[in-house]
Amino acid sequence: MQHRIVVLGAGYAGAIVAGRLAKRLRREDVAITLVNAEPDFVERVRMHQLATGQRLRPRPFDEMFAGTGVEVRIAKVTGVDADRRTVAVSGADGDGELAYDTLVYALGSGWNPQGVPGTAEHAYEIAGRPGALRLRERLARLGAGQTVVVVGGGLTGVEAATEIAEARPDLRVALAARDGLGDWLSPKGREHLRKVFGRLGITVHEHFTVGSVEADRVVAADGTAVPAAVTVWATGFAVHPIAQATTLEVSETGQIVVDGTLRSVSHPDVYAVGDAAMAMGPGNKPLRMSCASGTPSAWQAADAIAARLTGGKLPHVSIRYFNQCVSLGRKDGLIQFVTADDRAVPAALTGRLAAFYKELVCKSAAWGVANPTLGVPARRRPVTAKRAAAGSALREPA
Ligand SMILES: Cc1cc2nc3c(=O)[nH]c(=O)nc-3n(C[C@H](O)[C@H](O)[C@H](O)COP(=O)(O)OP(=O)(O)OC[C@H]3O[C@@H](n4cnc5c(N)ncnc54)[C@H](O)[C@@H]3O)c2cc1C
Repeated sequence: MQHRIVVLGAGYAGAIVAGRLAKRLRREDVAITLVNAEPDFVERVRMHQLATGQRLRPRPFDEMFAGTGVEVRIAKVTGVDADRRTVAVSGADGDGELAYDTLVYALGSGWNPQGVPGTAEHAYEIAGRPGALRLRERLARLGAGQTVVVVGGGLTGVEAATEIAEARPDLRVALAARDGLGDWLSPKGREHLRKVFGRLGITVHEHFTVGSVEADRVVAADGTAVPAAVTVWATGFAVHPIAQATTLEVSETGQIVVDGTLRSVSHPDVYAVGDAAMAMGPGNKPLRMSCASGTPSAWQAADAIAARLTGGKLPHVSIRYFNQCVSLGRKDGLIQFVTADDRAVPAALTGRLAAFYKELVCKSAAWGVANPTLGVPARRRPVTAKRAAAGSALREPA
């Protein structure tokens, strides 16, 4: 009987897990199903580009996974029953249920309005495709001289503000940051950021904590208001509530708590990868929601699942940070080199070379997803019945 592996979510992390497992395990031993709500891969790292009218290359899953042995199912996941080991899905052919022996949860994240009044009604977001398309349509209708305020001084806010300012020099673009601009960067990185913001004419409101968003302005907690024809909310990401509604152990953020092999600490037949996982990285700090950590977490989970099913040695993939790659429009960028636990070191690359480097990183991340089995060394040891049952046996009450 085949061991049923169901992977939920075909973003950077889920697609990589599915492809890698297909290379690591024998087709006769496993049935791998990859469930995703949309029929093509969404390059989330380019959502600010989509919002400013750029065309992104379509990447349909049926082409990407053709011939790999992975069955792609286009459906929305509506629930997980981690005790019955089933997933509820809803697709073009109606509602259904998928049973699994091993589950990989990779549903990623969306925007995080943080309960700030007015955000849900008035703000735009770029955490996913629908939000980016909505903003794209709104920006296209904005007349010269109107103001766009990007809220959030982190990586996504900085990328969004510079992209909009470069694409639409006729608009007034502002950034509202809770701290100082680029506070977390090295002096060189910070200086470059200020230079680019100056060149693009972006106004920066530092130490500005937004307390509410209204139709035509954002208001700070102390009552200071900044006019905004459009407010773009980019203050970090929040995970989908599905995991929280299960018996899986989740963190306060709703992420599934996993061990060093990305395996759920409460349910050994469940793994979580990417933004959906609460995994500890170097320095015992939670991994940041990013492709930078999501991709190695996917390699680690796939290799651990394959090792456990076939009796191989448990792998150890090093999950550490090397740099933060920030686009500053299409012609400029910043590569901030960091320690293993993501703290800035003095070295940074700036300017056109950095823009080129960042583009290369985005392209290779998408290439890895679009060619999920290419370049993955095949190690196809047979799945043993004893090993396959081990996960569920561990779940039996003592
Ligand atoms: C504008 C922007 C710029 C970014 N830049 C960078 C960067 O430069 N570097 C970096 O490392 N990170 C960056 N990130 C963060 C990065 O995109 C995410 O951390 C990464 O996409 C997480 O990967 P994932 O596979 O966990 O989730 P996702 O990429 O979000 O994939 C989740 C998948 O699950 C699917 N899904 C969700 N819910 C359901 C459901 N209920 N049913 C079925 N399918 C579902 C989605 O359709 C999607 O395909 C950026 C993000 C944004 C928005």
